[in-house]
Amino acid sequence: MSFLHAAHGRRSFLKKAAGTLSAGFLAGETLEAYPQNVNTNSKPSELKITDVRIAVLRGVPMTSPIIRIDTNQGIYGLGEVRDGATKNYALELKSKIMGMNPCNVDLLFRKIKQFGGPARQGGGVSGVEVALWDLAGKAYNAPIYQMLGGKFRDRIRIYCDTTESNDPKVFGQRLKDRVASGFTWLKMDMGVTRPPGEVTAPDGIRAQYGGLPMAHPFMATEITEKGLAGVCDFIAQIREVVGMTVPLSMDHFGPISVNSCIRLGKALTKYNISWLEDMIPWQETALLKKIADAVDIPILTGEDIYLKEPFQVLCSEHAVDIIHVDLLTVGGILETKKTGDMAQEYGVPMALHCAHTPIGALASAHAAAATENFLVLENHAVDVPFWSDLVDGIDKPIVNKGYITVPDKPGLGITLNEAACKQHLVPGEGWFEPTDQWNTVRSNDAVWS
Ligand SMILES: [Mg+2]
Repeated sequence: MSFLHAAHGRRSFLKKAAGTLSAGFLAGETLEAYPQNVNTNSKPSELKITDVRIAVLRGVPMTSPIIRIDTNQGIYGLGEVRDGATKNYALELKSKIMGMNPCNVDLLFRKIKQFGGPARQGGGVSGVEVALWDLAGKAYNAPIYQMLGGKFRDRIRIYCDTTESNDPKVFGQRLKDRVASGFTWLKMDMGVTRPPGEVTAPDGIRAQYGGLPMAHPFMATEITEKGLAGVCDFIAQIREVVGMTVPLSMDHFGPISVNSCIRLGKALTKYNISWLEDMIPWQETALLKKIADAVDIPILTGEDIYLKEPFQVLCSEHAVDIIHVDLLTVGGILETKKTGDMAQEYGVPMALHCAHTPIGALASAHAAAATENFLVLENHAVDVPFWSDLVDGIDKPIVNKGYITVPDKPGLGITLNEAACKQHLVPGEGWFEPTDQWNTVRSNDAVWS
């Protein structure tokens, strides 16, 4: 019997049991009162986490570990470790949340947040947090956006890129096709260091810093006049095809210096670029500010930032014009809303980075609905035909004519399509296999003692 069938059987049993209990309650017996509309299959105050299991999928659009948190009442919550990260980032948290009530989302988050870090290292904490919200929503019969304070909007604007082409007319046509299918915000990657003659760089400089995560500022890679002219000509031709008014953002510039970022940003101004993304590492606040002060195109960064506080540094220093939060890195749903609300106080809007399965995408949609200064949410799966099939219980396609409609069902508002997901399991990985080896971990994790 599959887990889902087992859970259904359990629910039927509990439903009958709940009927008996409410009859007793009416007769005057002492029983904890249920708030109206609470899921009668679940008694939220007695909900406990009994298991954390993982299934790793690939091509969805990246390789992503799906988290399933099981409970003592037959309901389960879905989360997702950020793409490319190890499932162990989630599993190492299991021993810290076993037996706890998942509805106390913020309490559990504060217990585990010390085990997260930048980029993929934030994937475990963030993914578990999403699964806790899904459970809380199922227990209280409420969609996640409602538990965050309600919606500012029903539909979430999506941005996407396309496959690349070295022919600007072809590239432009692909972007134009996105507009034709309903997208109202586009992005393109711009690797200015690839064509020969477009940058000056010391021979072998990449090898000199090979593998070091913060090497970018030390690569002495400068864009040439030929490079600047080449990029501008390329963008001009793309703008000719797609038009001048649809928002078009740019990403992946390569490891060019701060001065080259400024020269490039100034040269691109006339092409109405809506943001320049991750030009230099997000840790370099003062250097980002130097770029943002010199360039008139909005400067954006943040997809690798864990927790709200580094975003607050960037916002308060006015080193960025837009923040770019990845919900599966920043710490999950509530941290995304908190980060957006913080940025709003500095007049900074929030875009959301997303290369997730529908689980992470729907988590992002709930946070986007509930955060006033939300701008636009990424989707990397526009060309993955089966992406919407991975889940059920929601209108398909999930991204429809450039928008996601926020579901009203409890929690994330989706269930896993087991058959569809199993077709995309990473070879050698099982389907939510037991993880008992993670039940207890002997470790003193106190950050102050
Ligand atoms: Mg990016």
